[in-house]
Amino acid sequence: MSDVDVFIRLLPFQLIESGARVFIRRGARRIAFEGDGIADTIAKLQEMATDNFVSRRDLLAPFAPVHHDRIVEFLRHLAKNRLVNVRNSGGVGPEEPVPSETQEDVFFWQFGMTGNEIRQVTDFRIAIVGLNQLGLGLRDRLSEFGNWATTLVDDIPLRNHAIVEAAEELKQFCVKSQRAEEAEEIVQSCTLVVACAEFGGIGLLKPWNALAFRQGKPFLPVLIEDATIRLGPLVIPEQTACLACLDVRHNSHLREKVHDHRLIEALLPQGQAFVGAHPAVTAIAGNLAAFEILRFSANLSPRRVGKLIEMNLMGSSMIASRVLKAPRCPVCSPLRHASKVNLEKTSLNPERWAQVEAMGGRNGAD
Ligand SMILES: [Zn+2]
Repeated sequence: MSDVDVFIRLLPFQLIESGARVFIRRGARRIAFEGDGIADTIAKLQEMATDNFVSRRDLLAPFAPVHHDRIVEFLRHLAKNRLVNVRNSGGVGPEEPVPSETQEDVFFWQFGMTGNEIRQVTDFRIAIVGLNQLGLGLRDRLSEFGNWATTLVDDIPLRNHAIVEAAEELKQFCVKSQRAEEAEEIVQSCTLVVACAEFGGIGLLKPWNALAFRQGKPFLPVLIEDATIRLGPLVIPEQTACLACLDVRHNSHLREKVHDHRLIEALLPQGQAFVGAHPAVTAIAGNLAAFEILRFSANLSPRRVGKLIEMNLMGSSMIASRVLKAPRCPVCSPLRHASKVNLEKTSLNPERWAQVEAMGGRNGAD
């Protein structure tokens, strides 16, 4: 800010007077200033240079020379806090219109990003596995939050049969994953895999965890079980714990009840007509998952990679806990070669699909 060719624009902020002090507020940022006539000075600068670029000389002209150093110091302070834009000579002229800001722009400004940058970092493909209310809701939220291209994947154990019966055409917009090669292709073609189970059942998501791991793709499981939402862990292959690690740890807590628990879980898709669900829970789960995906894409801190987020609506609680790698995890442990996961046999076997289908939806055949 040393010469006449420097053009300055103040970002919109709120000016709050409190006695001899004034506060500048933008988003979550609040900065206090003191001094005689400081409120009038800032108000004048705002009037001149909010929403348009003004040369430094023009900006100082209305003030007595004795105050210039103080004003320049004030502008430097704003610049340190990213509350001014500065353009030098040779750049774009000051007459270029400044795009108007939305509340979302101000939100991302707090993290040092612009809406345009958010669009750039969300420019990749996400596979949303699960033709159910949760998967559909998540797809809608993602289309609002960023620039991702989404592919909705119909995985029969995760399918909500009631909504497919009500709107058969939904299936036309989905990619099927009934054969192992189809599932492999889906995962290969995307950057992130999100699997959604709205009737509970961590086991239903495990095949996708294993497949994403094998192909080195980040994976996010989203689960609704009664009034509890479980999001994560967001799995980064070879870096964080995976969903199977969480499962191994759960099993060690369940002790002798493992068998009963897993049996109930395996039969969840067939019992979906008996599951209680509330649209508020599904909507919150979709929003929560979409926001986590945004945080991951834009690297907004603090990152919750490798953490399990559990939200209980009836208990009014939300807890984030780190999931540790399980030494004997069948998917991500270095010892896994001894018990390699075989998707073809464990989950994508046509016989299993036929079995699930026959016991599941009232329509029977796919
Ligand atoms: Zn693991």
